[in-house]
Amino acid sequence: MKCVYWFRRDLRTYDNKGLYEASQECDVIYPLVVIDKNIMEREDTSPRRAFFFLQAVNSLREKIPITVKGGDPIDEVPRFVNNLGAEAVYFNRDYGYYASKRDAEVCKRVNCVSFKDHVLVEKGELPLYKVFTPYYKKWLEIPKEKPYPEPDGKFEGRGNPVPEKEDYTVPCATEECARERVMMEDKGSTMLSPFLKVGLISERYVYWNTKSDRVKRQLCWRDFYIQLYTSNYDYLSKGMRKEIKYDNDPRLIEAWKNGETGFPIIDAAMRELNDTGWMDNRLRLLVSFILTKVMLVDWRVGALHFMKNLLDGEFVINTANWQWSAGVGVDTKPLRRYNLVKQSKIYDPQGIYIKKWVDELEGVPPEYIHEPQKMPMAVQEKIGVRIGEDYPYPVIDLNKGYEEFVRRYKSLREKDSYDLII
Ligand SMILES: Cc1cc2nc3c(=O)[nH]c(=O)nc-3n(C[C@H](O)[C@H](O)[C@H](O)COP(=O)(O)OP(=O)(O)OC[C@H]3O[C@@H](n4cnc5c(N)ncnc54)[C@H](O)[C@@H]3O)c2cc1C
Repeated sequence: MKCVYWFRRDLRTYDNKGLYEASQECDVIYPLVVIDKNIMEREDTSPRRAFFFLQAVNSLREKIPITVKGGDPIDEVPRFVNNLGAEAVYFNRDYGYYASKRDAEVCKRVNCVSFKDHVLVEKGELPLYKVFTPYYKKWLEIPKEKPYPEPDGKFEGRGNPVPEKEDYTVPCATEECARERVMMEDKGSTMLSPFLKVGLISERYVYWNTKSDRVKRQLCWRDFYIQLYTSNYDYLSKGMRKEIKYDNDPRLIEAWKNGETGFPIIDAAMRELNDTGWMDNRLRLLVSFILTKVMLVDWRVGALHFMKNLLDGEFVINTANWQWSAGVGVDTKPLRRYNLVKQSKIYDPQGIYIKKWVDELEGVPPEYIHEPQKMPMAVQEKIGVRIGEDYPYPVIDLNKGYEEFVRRYKSLREKDSYDLII
C-alpha cells in the first residue's frame, strides 16, 4: 500500500508514533511537509519561529526524502495523495482550532489515519478538569506509552529544499539537539518548549528520559491546558472569569513592549524576548502580571505580542497562561500578586541578567539595580547614569495600579466570589 505521511508539528523520525505506524502498515511512504501559508501569513506568526520551523524541516530532510510544498494544506495534501495514487494520509493529531478544522477538511477529501503523539494524555482520556491539581493526580495514574523506535519503512520523495527565509539566530534545530536538552535542566528550565512546539522531540521521550519530577509536572500543565482549552474553542477568546474594564493606555503598552518601563527586570525580560524570542517562565509571569494587573491592559494585547515574538509561541498554551496571569483563567487565586523587587532580587541578585539586556544600567551598583530610581543623585553623577534621562523612572506606581485592579475586580462581583464562569 502507498501512503503519504504528513509532517506538521512532529518534525522528527525518532519516537514519532504516526510515522512509525505508517512504516509498519505501508509498503512505501511519501513524506510531505506543507509550508502552510495560512499559518505563515498570520498576524501572530513570529518570523523567528517560522525560521526555526524551516530549520527543523531542513534537518529532517537530511534523514528522509521529504517533498516540501507551499500553499494551503486543504488543497495541497489531497492533490499530493491523489497524484501519487496513495491510499491514505497518515499524521499525528493536532488539537488547535485552526488545525482541527484544516484536518477535518483534508479528511473529507482523502482517507486519513491519525494518532495521538503531541500530548501524553489527550482529550477524552480524562474527564474535563478546570483545576490543575486534581487533573495532575489523575494524569499521573494514566499509563504512558513508551517511545517508538525509528521507522524502518521505504521512503520516497523529492527531497527538495525548503523556501529561503530571513536569517535569525535560533537554537540548533535538530532532533539530537532536542534530546540533549532533556538532561540539561538549568535553574529549573530545560528550554525544551521550542523543540516541543515543532515536534523535534515528543512529550513521551521527555517524560521517560527526564530525571526531574518537576519537568513531568510541567508537561502535565501542557496536557491540561491543551485538553481544557480545546474542549471549547470559545475559551481561547473569552476569559474564564469576568473581566475588568481595561484602560489599554497606549503609552504604557509601548513602554512595556519596548522594555522601557523603568522596572529593570521587566525591561530586561522584554528586551530579551524582542531580541531572541526567549523569556524564562518566572519572567513571563512577572511581565504578564505587570501588564494586566498593574497597567490594566487587556491580556490579549500581551498575548499577541508574545506570539509575535516567542520562539515557543503556542497559541493554546500562550492564551491559557495569559489568562492565568491576568486572573481570568484557571488560577485558583485570581488576585495573585507578585512583589516585583523581591522577585527581581531572587531571580537576579547581582543584576547580571538585567545589565546584559539593559545596558544603560551597566554601571549601577547591585544595591540599586532593582530600583535604580532610588539611587542618590551623587551616585547617579558618579556613574554617569541619570534616571529620567538615560533610563526612565517607573512608568506606573505598582501599588496604586494593583489596588485599582483589585477594586475593579471586586466591583464585578456581588461578594468575593471568584468562581469560574465557564
Ligand atoms: C504569559 C505566559 C505565556 C506563555 N506562553 C507560552 C507559549 O506560547 N508556549 C509555551 O510552550 N509555553 C508558554 N508559557 C509557559 C512556560 O513559560 C514555558 O513553557 C516555559 O517557560 C518553557 O521553558 P522550558 O522549556 O525551560 O520549561 P520547563 O520548565 O523545563 O518545562 C518543560 C516543558 O513543560 C511545558 N510547560 C512548562 N510550563 C508550562 C506552562 N505554564 N504551561 C504549559 N506548558 C508548560 C513546556 O512544554 C516546557 O518546555 C507561557 C507562560 C506564561 C506565564
